[in-house]
Amino acid sequence: MPKLLGHHRHAPSSAPSRPPSRLRFLGLGVTVTAVVCALAATPLVFDSRSPATATVLLPAGQPSAGGGADRASGAPPPAPEAREAVAADREVEITARQYGYEPHRFEVDAGDTVRLRLVSLDVVHGFFLEGHDLEAEVLPGKLTFKARRPSREESFREVEEVVFTAGRPGKYRYRCSVTCGTLHPFMQGEMIVRPNLPFRLGVAGAWAIALGFFAALFCPVPVGRSNRPGESPSTEPGGRPAGAGSSRPPWRLDLLRRFPWLDWLVRRRWLQLAIVGPMAVVLFFFLVAGLFGSPIGNRNIIVTIVWIFWWFLLITLLVPFGGRAWCMACPLPAFGEWLARRRLIGVRPEGEDSKSLRTGSLNRRWPKRFSGLWIPNLLFLSMCSVSTILVTRPALTAAVLGAMLLAAVVIHVLFRRRSFCRYLCPLNAWMSLYSMTAMVEVRTRDPEVCAGCKKRSCVRGTEEAWRCPWLEIPFQLDRNNYCGLCMECVKACPNRNLTVNARPFCSDVAIRGVDEAWMAFIMITLVAAYSITLLGPWGLVREWANVTEVGNWTGFALHTAAVWLAALVVTPGIWLLGSRLARWLAGLGGRGTPPGDATDGKSVTVRQIFVRYAYLLVPLGLMAWIAFSLPLILVNYTHITSSLSDPLGWGWNLFGTADQHWRPLAPEWIPYIQIPLLLIGLAVSLVRGAGIASELFPERSAAARSLIPHGVVCVAITVVLLRLFVG
Ligand code: SF4
Ligand code: SF4
Repeated sequence: MPKLLGHHRHAPSSAPSRPPSRLRFLGLGVTVTAVVCALAATPLVFDSRSPATATVLLPAGQPSAGGGADRASGAPPPAPEAREAVAADREVEITARQYGYEPHRFEVDAGDTVRLRLVSLDVVHGFFLEGHDLEAEVLPGKLTFKARRPSREESFREVEEVVFTAGRPGKYRYRCSVTCGTLHPFMQGEMIVRPNLPFRLGVAGAWAIALGFFAALFCPVPVGRSNRPGESPSTEPGGRPAGAGSSRPPWRLDLLRRFPWLDWLVRRRWLQLAIVGPMAVVLFFFLVAGLFGSPIGNRNIIVTIVWIFWWFLLITLLVPFGGRAWCMACPLPAFGEWLARRRLIGVRPEGEDSKSLRTGSLNRRWPKRFSGLWIPNLLFLSMCSVSTILVTRPALTAAVLGAMLLAAVVIHVLFRRRSFCRYLCPLNAWMSLYSMTAMVEVRTRDPEVCAGCKKRSCVRGTEEAWRCPWLEIPFQLDRNNYCGLCMECVKACPNRNLTVNARPFCSDVAIRGVDEAWMAFIMITLVAAYSITLLGPWGLVREWANVTEVGNWTGFALHTAAVWLAALVVTPGIWLLGSRLARWLAGLGGRGTPPGDATDGKSVTVRQIFVRYAYLLVPLGLMAWIAFSLPLILVNYTHITSSLSDPLGWGWNLFGTADQHWRPLAPEWIPYIQIPLLLIGLAVSLVRGAGIASELFPERSAAARSLIPHGVVCVAITVVLLRLFVG
């Protein structure tokens, strides 16, 4: 028998408070570092204990006496008796069908010899086992399949089974490597090599971080400097933390002073057009590709670039480092804005107050009752409910982008400035929340200058600059949430008192309003839901989500209802219970508002705790989204390079990469990046939470106690995500 043998909106309290000192967080930092180092060392330790990875391949049809030499490697075939001696510890037969494997998960011990057979029930499927140098193609209706070792061989050989040795402990995904349909990029299963040490270390790390953090928080001996009344407040206006663990104001680097060329650049009127113009051309091309190109998602550039490359770029780089920088480059509102302004580059100040369509826009005020994030929240959730269809159907992606473009034009014609971006764009919800973590901000240099400023040009606009398109009051800006980084206010200020600062990660901590809190709940729920549907081994869940192809409307309704219920009710419900418990632990009772003034921490309501502590889900949520996006780009990057050569799937080969064989980039290393990301997210959440707690409750011990319920929920969420990613 042929074998492939392998070894192979709450205003913060104005009372001075005492945030935990910097030294108390030293323990937390040491814990995080220790866990990260342990994780980094794991593969090295186990590599030395793992069996050798040399592989021997026997072609199909050769007698079992082993006449088939390993032509690829030149290695001699194993003797028959040697092969008989390869007694398998596990025998696994995997059945592939659109879009999952059965069994979808199996467990072996490190060093086990695994005998593997593959069959397909419907179409040609692939099988790529991460970390084990094994790839196969499985044809339907055949008991044999083709296999190769991709690191050494170009061609496949027909085999009946594969024998390999399970490598170091951890989770290894087996993925479809042959385009088999719309959801092909997400077809996968899981092999767990026991003991799953990375997962265990991750969970232990999460609890160690939480325990170390609370031990530091409850530490009775004050270490380092603390804030005293009259010294320096723990927060700046708007909830900017004075650095949890420090009485010093947080650092800021004035980028426009530091880099004069940047100062010159952001004051150019043509800057935005120079960025948006090419984007608009690209958008138009994507719409054409979506409507007229290949209907297979991973062969059409609108899907590979928008849903894989752009989404990854947005989550991992643009938002954490640039805040809403994308909003300056986004082509969707550009056409409406140009129409409403009747200018591509220049300024037309009188047009701002006109109420006539002849001047481009009616400039109506957006209805107050529809302001806030509720509409973007629900639109984002709706889009995500059909995202499995969206990310696999180029025409649908084109239709959605086209509809957004049209809606933006209509809203610009009817309403003031960027009402579309602010009150309707589904992405606004995501960007608004996570731009709080960004490492840049537009802020005033000196509030005293603004206090003495009579012109308020940043609010009214000038002949050189439009008034804030985002309906913000620039000189009062204290959060990133709704600043589109358009630089109009920087141009407008005659005193050069507005600038762009670099700042620490997660510097805005003030969530204002229940709508913003709900966004945090929706986002953390969605990242878990996506991880189950798109990254999980469960073909059935994908079948439910893939309603347009499968037609299982009951399953789709169940899937959608479960996601909506979890995002809108279950997660907020748990948070509400935690808020009541937090208030009780702080010594104020679970509900109601006992008498007390606004500064003694006794009038803090459950609602305030609920809203303010929702921020704990922001750093953790962002890191979870990054961890989620990482495998999407590392595993599917060849779809991007292929579609660049053949953007419409019409058989072009512009750059010679159209026929590039699918090959993931270091997929077995992904868990070792995901775990530290989640742990760092948890640690930042807790540290920032401590700052918020000290704003709400001036008494240190009450602040620490109040943080326990939400801290525990954050640890639980981290563990759930760890389970989904690496468990
Ligand atoms: S930012 Fe400039 S224009 Fe605006 S209020 Fe301050 S000084 Fe005046
Ligand atoms: S005008 Fe200023 S505050 Fe308004 S969006 Fe542009 S950069 Fe942000």
